[in-house]
Amino acid sequence: MLPNEVMEQAMQEFMDWNGTGMSVMEIGHRTNAFIDIAKHAEQSLRSLVSIPDDYHVLFLAGGATLQFSVAPMNLLRGRKSAGYIVTGIWSGKAQKIAEPYTEVKTICSSQATGYRSIPARESWQLDDDMAYCFYTENETVGGVEFQSVPDIDVPLVCDMTSSILSRPIDISKYGAIIAGAQKNVAPAGMTIVIVDKSLCEQVLPGTPDLLNYQLQAEHDCMLNTPPTFNWYMAGLMFDWIKNEGGLEVMAERNLRKSEGLYQLIDSSGFYSNEVDRSCRSRMNVVFYLPNEELTSLFIRQSEEAGLFALKGHKAAGGIRASLYNAMPSSGIDSLVSFMTEFELQHG
Ligand code: PMP
Repeated sequence: MLPNEVMEQAMQEFMDWNGTGMSVMEIGHRTNAFIDIAKHAEQSLRSLVSIPDDYHVLFLAGGATLQFSVAPMNLLRGRKSAGYIVTGIWSGKAQKIAEPYTEVKTICSSQATGYRSIPARESWQLDDDMAYCFYTENETVGGVEFQSVPDIDVPLVCDMTSSILSRPIDISKYGAIIAGAQKNVAPAGMTIVIVDKSLCEQVLPGTPDLLNYQLQAEHDCMLNTPPTFNWYMAGLMFDWIKNEGGLEVMAERNLRKSEGLYQLIDSSGFYSNEVDRSCRSRMNVVFYLPNEELTSLFIRQSEEAGLFALKGHKAAGGIRASLYNAMPSSGIDSLVSFMTEFELQHG
């Protein structure tokens, strides 16, 4: 979802951005008009998250999956290996995709137990030669989310695709953050990278220019034509979050929204959530009904009631309620009422 206010502003400005007589969709990326939009979005994100000057903020084409290759290309710095914390499908994918570039080590994995928890810190295997430690803050498919930043001495590379801007971020704890825009920021097709400048000064030989963080930064992410409309939409979204009160307010709202759903699930003998309570996601609440027939009926009837996109990811099945920033609490109230009624009828 995108907030109505953001969509309305985009609609009002659609045919004529700032008196130019042109749509943002039509403005060339090297024009002053677009450079203003791009600079504004970057400044707005920097102030929202408090990103210091020693980090690049990049707006890049391509999805988060592309960054699973690009991060090792830029961040290995001649080191021999990279470590991965595997807590779900996305971190597992990131690890696999990094294999051609370096020796990939598993710091810990919850795969054997079905990705329902985060292995205890004491069990993590860390080596001095790791260039970075990669983890996925929120596993979108399984609904497993780190509640705090892992406490380790290796530069952290975090995939925040499905949790960026859902709560405050202490940038100083990260080497790099990568995030596809499509959940909490803007339409699909753009990725945001926030990276410590000192970590990306030595790219892997053969890295294409377009995938070189430092080179992209030196060219204001305009080595080629960037995803201009998405970049503009991202700027509107950053401003919206600021106007709503910032990341603390987003965090409070998201906690309240997810707690409402978890309370209902936990108090029912009908719905179930199998994720360890210490790492349940505030963005994607995944739950199950007693059998497949009821799950299909739930999806059909919820759509008839105006509740969409509740079908779980094909790898996890069940139901997934995504509670990204733009989802109002009234949306959760409607879902809770629907679930209560459905349980009364079928439980
Ligand atoms: N990481 C996470 C946590 C995701 O949720 C997703 C997409 N749902 C991706 C990576 C992949 O993003 P993209 O489709 O933009 O490559």
